[in-house]
Amino acid sequence: MLWPRSCAVPGCGARVDLPHGHLCARCRAALPWHDDRDDAAFAYLDPVPALVHAFKYGGATHLAGTFADILAEALRRKTDAAAVDVVVPVPLHPLRRAERGYNQSELLAAALARAIGRRCDTTALLRKRNTEHQARLSGEERLKNLKGAFAVDRPERIRGRVVLLVDDVATTGATLSACTEALQRAGAARIVPFTFARALMDEDVV
Ligand SMILES: [Zn+2]
Repeated sequence: MLWPRSCAVPGCGARVDLPHGHLCARCRAALPWHDDRDDAAFAYLDPVPALVHAFKYGGATHLAGTFADILAEALRRKTDAAAVDVVVPVPLHPLRRAERGYNQSELLAAALARAIGRRCDTTALLRKRNTEHQARLSGEERLKNLKGAFAVDRPERIRGRVVLLVDDVATTGATLSACTEALQRAGAARIVPFTFARALMDEDVV
């Protein structure tokens, strides 16, 4: 890791003086904490969209650690992180994952698990169907579209556990609901959904 570095927020460029992380103190202090929700760290407001976009599509996978440190802090504010047994990312369909080269939620979940000292299981929850064009569907249609999209192949890895379910951005929460349902079927004791950011409208999501 190179140090000193420039701040990851596009257009900032300030020097990052901390030995860890990629956000300058000013940008970090200006992050839009989502105080109204227990299941999201941030509202989808500047500079979150630019950061998420760089992380998700721009190959800026080195941001996972920075995001995870902030998420761990948010998690401790909002929920009982100590109760979590296993961290599980929202999976991408294998074709999508191959296309992008990585699953940003998986990177986030793995880094967050390290930050809170818990195990990450990236293969317990699987995406069985490749669902496209969610953005054009209503909330109800999304749930229908996602029916059967997720499954737990080896329920013994989930049964009786408190699962922290991690995604990068949620809008209607339909994906989180579908994943929650699959984890419930596998016998999870409790599912704690948690996203980096929660958007109000799809049109806002880059
Ligand atoms: Zn900055």
